[in-house]
Amino acid sequence: MNIHEYQAKAIFKKYGVPVNAGVPVLSVDDAETAANALPGPLWVVKSQIHAGGRGKGKFKEADAGEKGGVRLAKSADEAAKFVREMFGKTLVTVQTGPAGKQVNRMYIEAGSDIEKELYLSMLVDRETSRIAFVASTEGGMDIEEVAHSAPEKIVTFSIDPVTGFMPHHGRTLAKALQLTGTAAKQIGPVAEKLYAAFVGTDMAMLEINPLIVTPAGNVVALDGKVSFDSNALYRHPDIVELRDVTEEDDKEIEASKYDLAYIALEGTIGCMVNGAGLAMATLDIIKLYGESPANFLDVGGGATEEKVTAAFKIITADPNVKGILVNIFGGIMKCDVIARGVIAAVKTVGLTVPLVVRLEGTNVEEGKQIIRESGLNVIPADDLDDAAQKIVAAVKEAA
Ligand code: GDP
Ligand code: MG
Repeated sequence: MNIHEYQAKAIFKKYGVPVNAGVPVLSVDDAETAANALPGPLWVVKSQIHAGGRGKGKFKEADAGEKGGVRLAKSADEAAKFVREMFGKTLVTVQTGPAGKQVNRMYIEAGSDIEKELYLSMLVDRETSRIAFVASTEGGMDIEEVAHSAPEKIVTFSIDPVTGFMPHHGRTLAKALQLTGTAAKQIGPVAEKLYAAFVGTDMAMLEINPLIVTPAGNVVALDGKVSFDSNALYRHPDIVELRDVTEEDDKEIEASKYDLAYIALEGTIGCMVNGAGLAMATLDIIKLYGESPANFLDVGGGATEEKVTAAFKIITADPNVKGILVNIFGGIMKCDVIARGVIAAVKTVGLTVPLVVRLEGTNVEEGKQIIRESGLNVIPADDLDDAAQKIVAAVKEAA
């Protein structure tokens, strides 16, 4: 689960990580009040969307002003003007895709003078099964580009969960970030607090770009991007409340209601599969035969007819879907349940695109019979290879 920058900064603050004072703006009418709550002389007006690259982003609407999604204002009036320009508009950044994201929340922050822009992130490193720090002197820039062109400028190390964050980790960071004086003394305690926040709230990822050093040598988190481990959310009701569903894909929200593992993708073939491994293999083989999947969907082991119906509806509601591949290996899941679910869904939502069904395993004959007798225009397939070729051919033919 992702949250907004202003929410991430509230968590940083709670753990003692230095951030600038700021006021969230949840309604455009609050622009003046929010701007006047900060003393100046510099105000930073920041669009809040679940995507990075806002500073260099562009608005779709001409009346949103010339600058990007993060603007520096010299007066409270100017800050309020920037809020009014950007609020409700659509911001396109390298991370939003061409459709962009509507700015429904903003954040006004007290501006800092910047001596240095650094990069600091944390993530769960699967290779070492530990939380890792990633640090670079090249903050504020596109870190992926730095990783590509100057990988030696990125330092990574992980924390032993038994010892936790140690003073030597702080010294490693100070050296990696080429800090001296006050900043070198501050980085260790700041990173230790970030580690506490990461562990304490079950984060999956935390990125501060830029982490700045002010002219006085103070270390401040100027940006904050955080995501949480969804499997641990049950023990953080306060964090669940931070969820902003307007930032999420409608289809994914609907799927989460039925406890379906669904991820929207950009292709044309809707997939309904049981088991994550089989689902991944199905996406791969669709690619192999020259088309792209419209989604990842694992209906799970013990799916009910109702769940299968919901899954099928989510797939057909996607206008990008030009064909559907149902690929079920019935182990715990039974083929007849899938067949009934598919038919129930088709009866309510209709079927306007080709549908290939491959069933195998428990109650397969019963499942096939149900589909045959339904009178639906289903293309049966024998195995995964055959199914993928058939759906790709059917989609190409219909195009
Ligand atoms: P992003 O573009 O979505 O990553 O948004 P950021 O929060 O990183 O802001 C973009 C850029 O705005 C930063 O890299 C800074 O250069 C600039 N910026 C943000 N806050 C301040 C500030 O307090 N003072 C100054 N001078 N620049 C700022
Ligand atoms: Mg940033």
